[in-house]
Amino acid sequence: TDPRPGFRRVLLKLGGEMFGGGAVGVDPEVVETVARQIAEVVSSGAQVAVVIGGGNFFRGAELQDRGMERSRADYMGMLGTVMNCLALQDFLEREHHIDTRVQTAITMGQVAEAYIPRRAIRHLEKGRVVIFGAGVGMPYFSTDTAGAQRALEIGAEALLLAKGVDGVFTADPKTDPGAKLYEEITHREVLEQGLKVADATAFSLCMDNRMPIIVFNLLVEGNIARAVRGERIGTLVST
Ligand code: UDP
Repeated sequence: TDPRPGFRRVLLKLGGEMFGGGAVGVDPEVVETVARQIAEVVSSGAQVAVVIGGGNFFRGAELQDRGMERSRADYMGMLGTVMNCLALQDFLEREHHIDTRVQTAITMGQVAEAYIPRRAIRHLEKGRVVIFGAGVGMPYFSTDTAGAQRALEIGAEALLLAKGVDGVFTADPKTDPGAKLYEEITHREVLEQGLKVADATAFSLCMDNRMPIIVFNLLVEGNIARAVRGERIGTLVST
């Protein structure tokens, strides 16, 4: 029997880079693929909250390297994530008729609700997808950290980290052909072996609070549903 239970409530973290399909901006085909998979999961009865990155628009650190002031650059990064949120909301609602709320850590009442955790939980209980934008609303943080923090605050049972690779490897699979995929690993082993799962802030939040992380490949159709059903895919990081 598989030790992984199915999940009732998850926080799905999507990198922004995938939303752009490799370019700056939003690739509607990619967003549609993701929306379809999320709709499938919600229809099965699971509660899904989403945090989306903004790497397809701006990364504060990169803008800083090119001469911008870091905090301002980070705010630009956060604003970029909101555009991804709106794109996903659009596909979920219009193509799949899934009620969706966007909540942002920087208030912008015309386009989204403010981040109000208890309200987010109520939305989830009503079967709505809640999409969290603008990260945690503070410069020097990442959307991975937002994913970990939101997962903890809304009581998600796992943080699902959707990537462009199959999971956590012994080495970088792009440069080392001998790299092996871990099916399971503990938070502590990830630290001890210096493996890269999420940034240090995000990872330590999960480790300190025993939040399981499932790292899996978003590019394999149906993987979000598999992860939520508790099937063995990617890498399970747990305590
Ligand atoms: N960002 C930030 N605070 C946050 C979340 C994001 O300052 O809480 C900024 C930061 O500049 C980051 C950018 O927004 O580089 C985009 O987010 P991220 O790099 O996490 O996106 P991803 O890599 O997941 O696409």
